Amino acid sequence: MGKKQPIRVALDLETTGLHEEQDAIVEVAAIKFRGDTIVDTFETLVAPGRPIPYRVQRLTGITPQQLLGAPQFEAIARTLRDFIGDLPLVGHSIPFDAGFLRRRGLGHNNPLIDTFELATVLLPSLPGYNLGKVADALGIPVSPGRHRAMVDTTLAKDVFLALHARLQAVDLSLLEELARLDAPRDWPLLAFFRQELRERQELDGVRGLPLRGSLGDRFAAQLGMDPRILSFAIARQPEDISESSPSPQTSAPALEAVEQLQKRIEVIPEQGVTPEQISQHKPMTYQAAREAVLRILTEAPVSESQNALLMEVTLGGNDYTPVLLPALEWLCEVSDGSEPAELAERGGYLCTPRWFGAALRRTSGELKAEQARGLAKLGLWAQQTLTGERSEISLLSQETLAWERVSSGIERIPAADERSGSAYQRCVYRRKGYCFVSRAEERVKTASVIVTTHAGLLDDLSRPVSLLASIERRIILDADLFEDELSRWSTADLDRTRLINLLNTIGTELPGERYQGLLALAAPALRENGPGGLSATLTVGKAEIDARMRAWFQTLHAARAAVETIFAQFNLLLEEFASQGSSNGREKGHKATGGRAGERIDQPLRITDQTRNFSSWANVERAWQQVAARLQAVIDLAREAERALLTTQHSRHHLDIGNGEEDSIVSELASITKQLSALKQLGQQALVLNENKYVYWLKMPQTAAFAQQRQAAAGQTAEITTPTPILYTQPVDTAALSRRFLLNNHTRTIFTGIGLAVDNHYTFSRGRFGIENDHSPALSVVTEHQEQTLLYLPNDVPEPNMPQYQRHLDEALINLASALEGQTLVLFTSHAALRSSYASIKPVLEARGILVLGQGMDGSPRQLWQTCATQERLVVLGAGSFWDMIGETRFVPTCTVIARLPMPALNDPPLAARAEHYSDQLHQFTVPVAALRLRRALNRIAWSERRRNVVVLFDRRIVSKEYGATMLHTLPHCSQRQGPVSHLPETVLDWLTSTGSWDSNP
Ligand code: SF4
Repeated sequence: MGKKQPIRVALDLETTGLHEEQDAIVEVAAIKFRGDTIVDTFETLVAPGRPIPYRVQRLTGITPQQLLGAPQFEAIARTLRDFIGDLPLVGHSIPFDAGFLRRRGLGHNNPLIDTFELATVLLPSLPGYNLGKVADALGIPVSPGRHRAMVDTTLAKDVFLALHARLQAVDLSLLEELARLDAPRDWPLLAFFRQELRERQELDGVRGLPLRGSLGDRFAAQLGMDPRILSFAIARQPEDISESSPSPQTSAPALEAVEQLQKRIEVIPEQGVTPEQISQHKPMTYQAAREAVLRILTEAPVSESQNALLMEVTLGGNDYTPVLLPALEWLCEVSDGSEPAELAERGGYLCTPRWFGAALRRTSGELKAEQARGLAKLGLWAQQTLTGERSEISLLSQETLAWERVSSGIERIPAADERSGSAYQRCVYRRKGYCFVSRAEERVKTASVIVTTHAGLLDDLSRPVSLLASIERRIILDADLFEDELSRWSTADLDRTRLINLLNTIGTELPGERYQGLLALAAPALRENGPGGLSATLTVGKAEIDARMRAWFQTLHAARAAVETIFAQFNLLLEEFASQGSSNGREKGHKATGGRAGERIDQPLRITDQTRNFSSWANVERAWQQVAARLQAVIDLAREAERALLTTQHSRHHLDIGNGEEDSIVSELASITKQLSALKQLGQQALVLNENKYVYWLKMPQTAAFAQQRQAAAGQTAEITTPTPILYTQPVDTAALSRRFLLNNHTRTIFTGIGLAVDNHYTFSRGRFGIENDHSPALSVVTEHQEQTLLYLPNDVPEPNMPQYQRHLDEALINLASALEGQTLVLFTSHAALRSSYASIKPVLEARGILVLGQGMDGSPRQLWQTCATQERLVVLGAGSFWDMIGETRFVPTCTVIARLPMPALNDPPLAARAEHYSDQLHQFTVPVAALRLRRALNRIAWSERRRNVVVLFDRRIVSKEYGATMLHTLPHCSQRQGPVSHLPETVLDWLTSTGSWDSNP
C-alpha cells in the first residue's frame, strides 16, 4: 500500500498592490488538502483600511461596497494562523503571498511550494507561465472569476496536483540530479525535490544508489561517456524518424487557399515597371505573384542582382501564403522525396558532454536560483528532446545563463595542441551518435528544404565549411527585419561581468588559501609529477598546487585587477562626456544627458577620433594596455594548461583521446581562450579608433540589463554594486555582409517581408540587402483596407516637439476613449512620453469607469496583451517592444493611436553610423525606416483581422511636412480623413457604425 500523502495548504491573497510593506490584503482564501481530498477551507474578505485602486477593482471584481463590514486582517490573523499551522503552503508565486503574511507575523515556518517554479521546470516549453496558461497546458478547466482568491486557490491546488503527478513520473536518476543541484538553500524547489527523493527512495526501497564511483564509473571508463546519456531521448531516436513526417503535397486546403487569395489580393509592381514585365495575367492577382516566385526558382541564374526577387506581402498577421504556396508547388515537382530539415544557430543545441561536465560542476561560485531552475528545466527537457534545439524550451531571462553552460558552439575551436584537433573531432559522444549538432547536420545534408532562422543561416554561411552554401534557392521570410538581425548577429560587446566570470572560471583564489575553477579541478593532472586525473573536490588547498600553478593564479588575479581598472576608467570617460554636455556628441548627432559628473549616464558615447579630446582618454589608453598584456598572459597560461592536459591524456590513453571529464575541461579552456582573444581584439580595435568599418560605443546597461548584470555577478562571485559601462561594436555596412553571404551568381534569393517598398519604390530595401542595382524584380502583394480601416489625421495639433503637444494629445485621448468607452491602444516612441500621458489620463478615465494600463507600470507587453483580450472598457499604453510584440494575441484594437511617427533614434551610435552613409539622411534613411516600421506595426494591429477599425496618426508632420505623403503612400489603401482634433471622436464613431469606404475629405 502506498504511503499516505502529506497535508498541504493551497493559498492565495488579493491585495491592493505588489508591495508587502505599503499595500494591504483585501481577500484571503486557503484550502487544506491531502492528495486530491479537500480537508478544510478558509475564505474571507479583509478591510484594507484604504481605497482599493481601480485596476484591482476591475481585475478582481471586488468593490468598496463588498468590503463594507469586512473584518480587519488582525481580526482574522489567529484563525488563519491556526488553519495553516506549519504546513507547506502551495500557490502560484507563493513567495509573494507568503511575503504579505510574514510581514504580518504569520507563516514564518511554513515551507513554500511554488507552482510557478514547478511549472517552469516541468513544462519547459510553455510560452508563458501565468496560472491560467499553466492550467490550460495541463488540461485543467479554468472557471470564470479568475483573480478572486478562492477561484485562484482551487486552480493552484489542481495545478499542483497535476504537476506533482508529472514529477512522480520522472526517472529516479533525474530526481536525484534535481535534488543534488548546486542551488541556493532558499530556493523553494530544492527542499521539495529532496523531500520527493526521500519519499521515492523509501517507496522503492532504494537508498541513495551511487551512480558514480561504482558500476557507473566503470561503465563510463569503458564507454568514454557518462552512463546517464542512455536515458536521453536521442539514444532512443529511431534512425528514420521521417516515416511520420508528412511529405509536401498540394492538398485540398492548399487549393482552397489559392481560391481565397484570388479573391482577396492585389499585386502591385514596382513603380516604373509595367505589369507585363511581371506577368501576362490581367488583372494582376495571385497568378502574378506565383509566376514571379516560380520564375526565380526555376530559371537559370543570370547575374547577382537579377537572381533576387523582392516581394512585399502585407495581408495582415504573418501571412506569407503568396510566396510559400508557389514554392511548395515547385518543391512538389522537383522533390526527390527527401525530408525538410531544420538548422538552428550556433549555440542553439544542447551539447551532451557539456551537460554532464560543465553544467553541473561548480567552477565559479554558487548558482543563482534562476540558474538552478534553468538547469532543472533543462534536465527534464534533455531526457525528452529528439533535436536538442534551444527553441523547444522557453527560458526566462536569468535561466539563459544555465543554457550558456550547456550549449553547443565550442566544438569547432581548434585545441592548443594541433595534433588533438577540435572538440568536434575528438568528441566520443559525437562518434557514438549522441551529438545533436552532428545529427542535425546529417539531416541537412540529405534534405531538399532547409528551415532555419536568420541567425542560423548567417552562422552557417559565415563558417569556413558551410552546409548551406551549396543550396541554390533561398527564401528569406521577414526580410524587413533581416538588417536588424544582421546587426544583432554581428554585434560584439566587452562586458566587465562576463570578462571577470571568464577569468574566474579558469581559476580564482578563495579565502583560506583555497582555489577554485577549471585549473583547480585539473590540479592533480597539471602538477609536475602529479598523480593525474581530476580533483575529487570543487576546491583545492594550497598544498595541492605547485609553483607553476601558483604563478598562474597570480596572473589571473592581476588580470582581474586590470579589468577593474579599465572599467573604472570607462566610467570616468562617460562621466566626463555627460558633464561636458557633449558638444562633441551633439556635433556627431548624438545627444548627451548634460548631467553632472558622477551622476548615472544613460546616453551612449560613440568612440570616435574626437573622443581623444577628453582629458580622461589618456588614462583609458594606459589602462587598456595593461588589460591587453594581462589578458594575453592568461590566454597563454590557459593554452599551456590545455596542452599539458592533452599531453597527459595522450600518454595515458594513446588513441583514446576525447574521453571523460578531463576532455571537457580541455574544451572549456579552449572555449574561454577563444572568447578572451576575441574580447581582447575588440578592445584593441576600439581603442586604436579603427572607425572605418566598425562603430564602437560605450553605454551603461539599461535598468533591466543592469539588474541582470548584478544578478549574474552575484551568482558567479563577481560582486558589483554600481553599474559599469559595456563597450559595444558592430560593422557599419551590414549590406556588405548580406552581399557576401547571400548574393552571388549561382544562388537565387527571394526576400519577402511585410514592409519593403517605400512609396512603391524598393531602392531603400535593395540597399539594405546589398543589391547593387535596380534590375532585381520587385512586387507588392496587398489587400485593400478602404472598407476596413480609417486613417484619421488631426491637422490642427502642435507638432510633437512643440510645447503644447503633450497636453493636446492627452485631451484627445481622454475624449476619444470616453466616446469609445475604452477600446483604444496608444503607441508611443518613448517611455517618458508614455509615463507622462499615463499620469494625466488615468485619473480622469478611471473616474469614468475606463481602465488605463501602462506598459512597465501595470505589466509587461505580453501581460497587457493578455488583459486586452479579456477586458472591456480598457485603454492600453505601450512603447518600445510593444511595437514588435503586436500580434502575439489575436486581439485587434478598435482604435489605435500612433502618438508619434516612429522615426529611428539617431543618438543610437549604430543607427547614426549607418545614417551617415546617406547624403540625404532624412529622406534616404529616417523617413524610409519610419514608414516601413509603421506599415509593419499596422499590418498586425489593424489588418490581422477583418474587423472595421480606426488608426489615428497624432503627428501633424504627416500633413505638414513634405515627407508625410511618402509615409502615407507607403501604407496600403485605407479610407482617410484629415480634420480638427475636436471632430475625432464623432468621426471615429461614424466610421465604426457605417459601412463601405469613404472618399478623401468630403
Ligand atoms: S561534437 Fe561533442 S562537444 Fe560538440 S556539440 Fe556534439 S556532443 Fe557537444
